Amino acid sequence: MTLSISSAFDAGNIRLLGVDGQRADLEIVRDRESDFYQWFHFRVTGAAGGPVTLRILNCAGSAYPDGWPGYAACVSEDRQTWVRAATRYADGVLTITHAPAGDALWVAYFAPYSLERHHDFVARIAQREGVSLESLGNTLDGRDIDLLSIGDGPLQVWLYARQHPGETMAEWWMEGALERLTDVADPVARSLRRKARFHIVPNMNPDGSFRGHLRTNAAGVNLNREWHAPSLERSPEVHHVLERMKRTGVDFAMDVHGDESIPHVFLAGFEGIPERNDAQGRRYRRYVETLERLSPDFQTRHGYPAAPPGKANLSMSTNQLANRFGCIAMTLEMPFKDNLDLPDPVEGWSPGRSKALARDCLAALHELIDDLR
Ligand SMILES: [Zn+2]
Repeated sequence: MTLSISSAFDAGNIRLLGVDGQRADLEIVRDRESDFYQWFHFRVTGAAGGPVTLRILNCAGSAYPDGWPGYAACVSEDRQTWVRAATRYADGVLTITHAPAGDALWVAYFAPYSLERHHDFVARIAQREGVSLESLGNTLDGRDIDLLSIGDGPLQVWLYARQHPGETMAEWWMEGALERLTDVADPVARSLRRKARFHIVPNMNPDGSFRGHLRTNAAGVNLNREWHAPSLERSPEVHHVLERMKRTGVDFAMDVHGDESIPHVFLAGFEGIPERNDAQGRRYRRYVETLERLSPDFQTRHGYPAAPPGKANLSMSTNQLANRFGCIAMTLEMPFKDNLDLPDPVEGWSPGRSKALARDCLAALHELIDDLR
């Protein structure tokens, strides 16, 4: 059998350059109207009976070339369980070698989270007690921007993910968060729902997700550089979410992401915003300390450098929300690679670990929620 490679499906991305026996040469396709690329997701058939070698040739020009050293690609034969394959990076070429048992092999940058899965998940959660679902508006491709709401308390908590659509671990995190919050037997969830109203956008960028983008929407716009001045023409996703935030107010906000390079879980705060107040900084530090105590997957030694006073980038949601609402806001980053303090050589960072982290993030919120009033 000859190798066949395709990516013409939900969240697919690859370009086939050529096949030579059991080896294929490939390229990642740029986000539409953009130079960003790093997300890949494709199917290989005709692979049974021996190892296949998949070479992605254009990695040196990708958005985060630092993301490739130490990285191992995700593969699956049943599209449910994703494990890491033998992967090498040298001279701008990522070489993935794997010997599947069956005829078909799926390969991705991280365990995919398709738009179909998003709809299945949102439909399932929306049926649970006390949950409401609405569309905040439409994307440029005409998709709904889904908002799930739950809880009766006076505090306004916003959780949102996948501004960068290739960071699929962010929506796996959302599954963990929403499953916990809607568990009627979970005392942390019961208490949180009494103290707060949760506004949850599990996928800020459905167009980019479906198109197989790394970082941008259908117009090639990085949504996390639009929060100072979102527009219906460029960034309706941000426009609609921010308009709703202005109506509800925001006491606590978490923006969920994945980081290509750093092999750890970390938070980025809002240091450097012009309107910073002491209570904000104290509450944020308390949240960080609490999460570090609760989750062995979370740490504070590795992360992004803090912006100097007055130098925060207000086009990013965390800074914009902390500055505008005086709330505590944060960007959660999970690795594409692994948490090197607690590595898993089989799966690396994974959907299951993203979901477990989400449960601990809610527990940490519960510990300080009375201090947010
Ligand atoms: Zn991101």
